[in-house]
Amino acid sequence: MKFTIAIDGPAAAGKGTLSKAVANHFGFAHLDTGLLYRAVGAAVLAGQDPHEAARNLDPTTMNTTALRTPEVAQAASKVAADAKVRAILLDFQRAFATRAGGAVLDGRDIGTVICPDAHVKLFVTASPEVRAHRRFLELTSKGMDVSLETVLADVKARDARDRDRATAPLVAADDAILIDTSDMDIETAVQNAIDVINQKRGTI
Ligand code: C5P
Repeated sequence: MKFTIAIDGPAAAGKGTLSKAVANHFGFAHLDTGLLYRAVGAAVLAGQDPHEAARNLDPTTMNTTALRTPEVAQAASKVAADAKVRAILLDFQRAFATRAGGAVLDGRDIGTVICPDAHVKLFVTASPEVRAHRRFLELTSKGMDVSLETVLADVKARDARDRDRATAPLVAADDAILIDTSDMDIETAVQNAIDVINQKRGTI
């Protein structure tokens, strides 16, 4: 059985938590595609060529903890504007999406570019202030020394770069279902997503 769920949205909207919970609920595999761009961004910070780094990327050995820093996030959104980097990472993502047993992919362009035929497309969003506050709590709980103002500025800078780039900009697919988590706890967001997916599964 092939069933693809595309979950897109801006930074810190709750996509990651939601995607993991949905994948877990349905027993599907999950790919956080942001990690691919973060791995290339981290390699560039370490002095590597972005195209070489993308070509040599082994998604099975990514150090996810080291990739979740604000510096790597900014580097990721810069390499993500490079059309060649995106092209190199495309096949892996498409193959993952069509694996047997079902797949959930989360990112920025899953419903628009990677899986335009996904069975379900969700666009998860929240206000920049709510997203920055969540990211601030996440980073400080890991012991990182950041201020809310800096995190908000980073979120806005990344939003602008992701939305305004020429290749695969962050935008909801026409047929995506919007989930605004600004005033919603994660349990409610997950339940909403599961309900939408169950409805779609019932119709195919
Ligand atoms: O989702 P995450 O915040 O980890 O993504 C890091 C960066 O990678 C994003 O700001 C975005 O620029 C880029 N990205 C992308 N396309 C995706 C996933 C992430 O351009 N599908």
